[in-house]
Amino acid sequence: MSLQKRFIAGARCPKCNKEDTIYVLKDEVNPSRHCVECGFSESQSDLDKSSPVGEWSPVRLTDPE
Ligand SMILES: [Zn+2]
Repeated sequence: MSLQKRFIAGARCPKCNKEDTIYVLKDEVNPSRHCVECGFSESQSDLDKSSPVGEWSPVRLTDPE
């Protein structure tokens, strides 16, 4: 198994309120985020219910003519 551990810059832990302690484990089935400070963990499915992330609207850039 190879899980990708990736820290989220600027993310704040909802439990201990510290910044830059949150990392995401990219599991194929169930991605989850964790805090290195207090041991907080949350699965991606929980995140989707409250606040949908990853739905980025494409920004249209106008080309100079
Ligand atoms: Zn924490």
